[in-house]
Amino acid sequence: MAGGGNAIRGSRVGAGPMGEAERGEAAPRQAITYFCSHEHSSVVTFSVEATVPDSWDCPKCGLPAGRDSENAPPATKIEPYKTHLAYVKERRSDKEAADILDEALSLLRSRRKSGDIIF
Ligand SMILES: [Zn+2]
Repeated sequence: MAGGGNAIRGSRVGAGPMGEAERGEAAPRQAITYFCSHEHSSVVTFSVEATVPDSWDCPKCGLPAGRDSENAPPATKIEPYKTHLAYVKERRSDKEAADILDEALSLLRSRRKSGDIIF
């Protein structure tokens, strides 16, 4: 028991850089394929933590694309969308077009939910 303090040796934790905890692992990803009514298929990559949307705008033609290859969203069947689109084209308002697309999409979603549209 003669003094010293040698026993404590080796207890020095955390001497190294604290990089380990901060090293961000690459987030796991999932690839989701969407199909539009023009028979385009587009792979969109999401983080596995992300909520994968039921529909996605087709990057090739801009139509809404769904996850079921057999039943792509029939965008042209949504009358309000078509009517409004023609109207918007005249006015050339991108923002309004986006709003109306949004409106059409939520209408489509709510009708799908209620079973009004089956595809
Ligand atoms: Zn398309």
